[in-house]
Amino acid sequence: MPYVYRSSRAPSARHRGGGRNKKQQRNKNRGAGQYIDPRRFVQVATAANEEAYNAKHSFSDFPFAKILQDNLTSKGYETPSPIQDQAIPAAIAGRDVIGIASTGTGKTAAFALPILQRLITEPKSAALIVAPTRELAQQIEQECKELAKGSGLFGALLIGGSSMGAQLRDLRDKPRIVIGTPGRIKDHLQRGTLKLHNFNTVVLDEVDRMLDMGFVHDVTEILKHASSDRQSFFFSATMDNRVRGLIEAFTSDPVSIAIKASATSDSVHQDVLEFQNSSDKIDKLHDLLIKNEVSKVIVFNETQRNVERLHRDLNDRGFKTEAIHGGKTQGQRQKALSRFKNNQVPILVATDVAARGLDVSDITHVVNYSIPKTYDDYIHRVGRAGRAGQIGYAFTFVPQQ
Ligand code: AMP
Repeated sequence: MPYVYRSSRAPSARHRGGGRNKKQQRNKNRGAGQYIDPRRFVQVATAANEEAYNAKHSFSDFPFAKILQDNLTSKGYETPSPIQDQAIPAAIAGRDVIGIASTGTGKTAAFALPILQRLITEPKSAALIVAPTRELAQQIEQECKELAKGSGLFGALLIGGSSMGAQLRDLRDKPRIVIGTPGRIKDHLQRGTLKLHNFNTVVLDEVDRMLDMGFVHDVTEILKHASSDRQSFFFSATMDNRVRGLIEAFTSDPVSIAIKASATSDSVHQDVLEFQNSSDKIDKLHDLLIKNEVSKVIVFNETQRNVERLHRDLNDRGFKTEAIHGGKTQGQRQKALSRFKNNQVPILVATDVAARGLDVSDITHVVNYSIPKTYDDYIHRVGRAGRAGQIGYAFTFVPQQ
């Protein structure tokens, strides 16, 4: 393909004309988009199965309390995933851990299990887990709840868009695990309703995304409140200088574990869909969505407004869709997501931020209705499909030249 596309511009804005400056202005805090050669959106799937990995440990090798082992069994976890196999021994030895791994690798249990073990054996210890989005924080809470079932441990979920009253009540009970998003955690710290000096384990999940979302100051401030004698876990899907800078400032002699990032997109058949104008674009999306094999699909679009508009347009065309973006209330986002997860609607229209880290395992297709801002974002989007040993499909809309 003989052209290079500037990814920070939505094609629809381009066709309306004059979109560049406003868009670039809006992106000022995130940094301008990257040039991505559209050829990078074309790739034949090479592996339906994730590379075979021989775990060095079984869960029974780890010195976990019986209750944790029982909960692992009832969750059906038989063998540690690569990140668990490598991170858990280091964590149990008290080391700081840096995991370069994205959602879908089992990273949540990789930090949750050693943390729960520590909370069970050290009654004065407490753990703070910070995640960039409400959805991810909720997923982590759910996993922790299931793994800790019957242990008597309890936590508080501190996320925006949900009742302050309930959070204040939970905090008064002195939870041993606090899970939340940076804004709301900082809010509680400022009100004095959360004190972190006893928190001797800290997890930052999806560090790259937190930095993308402009949380660097909040996160830095939060970490300063935690106990200085602490164990830290930092997880990020990607590693760049910003991520490295933050990690280096807040870890000591960490063990780094990288789970091959490209593995997720290797099992996804990737192609472009060229469009001439906005009506041709939606027609082409329509043609794709009516295909039989498109049974569960995320359509990524840029900006809350564009997500809403596309959601409405698709509904007008008779498709059953849900939409998630940062402008929806927490309740609305949760409802949309569970309807998609439970197969009540086959199509989810989403912004990157809302969809990042979602654990929905049976997505067949990812559609990039807008081109992602960076190639990392692209890999993240595409990695939603083709999981659990299945070939997935990803289509990226690019303007015809
Ligand atoms: P995560 O990357 O933590 O979001 O996990 C992705 C999915 O893998 C979740 O649905 C987990 O419940 C599941 N999972 C995590 N660890 C294991 C394991 N050892 N065996 C089977 N499934 C797992």
